[in-house]
Amino acid sequence: MTETTLFMDNFYIFDDGHVRQFLITGEDEALLIDTGFEDSHVYEAVRKITDLPVRVILTHGDVDHAGGLKDFGKCCLHKADWHLVKGDIELEPLSEGDVFMCGGYRFETIEIPGHTYGSVAFIDREKKLLLPGDSVQKAGPIFMFGSHRNLDLYIESQKKMCTLSEQVETILPCHHEYPIGPECIGRNLEDALALKNGELAGEKHPYLPCYSYKGKWTEFYYENEA
Ligand SMILES: [Zn+2]
Repeated sequence: MTETTLFMDNFYIFDDGHVRQFLITGEDEALLIDTGFEDSHVYEAVRKITDLPVRVILTHGDVDHAGGLKDFGKCCLHKADWHLVKGDIELEPLSEGDVFMCGGYRFETIEIPGHTYGSVAFIDREKKLLLPGDSVQKAGPIFMFGSHRNLDLYIESQKKMCTLSEQVETILPCHHEYPIGPECIGRNLEDALALKNGELAGEKHPYLPCYSYKGKWTEFYYENEA
């Protein structure tokens, strides 16, 4: 069951208990960031709020973000994640600096590869708001196992986002606790560096093909046992 919250003016959050999406309603168009799992029924949730045409942009191509695309048919997604999208979906490229205006918001695209090669964040500098997909979370677990992820790039992207943290007050991740503060970026970075340096002990996950690594702040699911 998807819960809908009006979080700020013209800004709705959908949450089915597993993953969140964000809907911004404008005058002529609505902007949807991510589409949930196939069975998250995000299209129905959107249509309860607005009849406007919907422009869809994705933080990345994982199945819990791209699963609802078949109901929309089209989206903007970074090219490096196009191979993750299943079915007959019209894809438009998304890259650094692309701007989306809607409902009084101005979201600028920041490339943050690592969680996936095509991961992006959206920042509204005036509202000091950052939508980082799965790449910034308070405690995690942040999924970093599998061939479409790269820990070195993730670390570089966290460093890049740290340079933006003075321009951010509110971070809305797609999983687990929200809203969270900009200090989480540096904390994720600190723990990702500890993971990279082999300082964290891994524990075999009971059913996923990975190990759990708990840093000081953040848990990562990653494959190599330290
Ligand atoms: Zn996710």
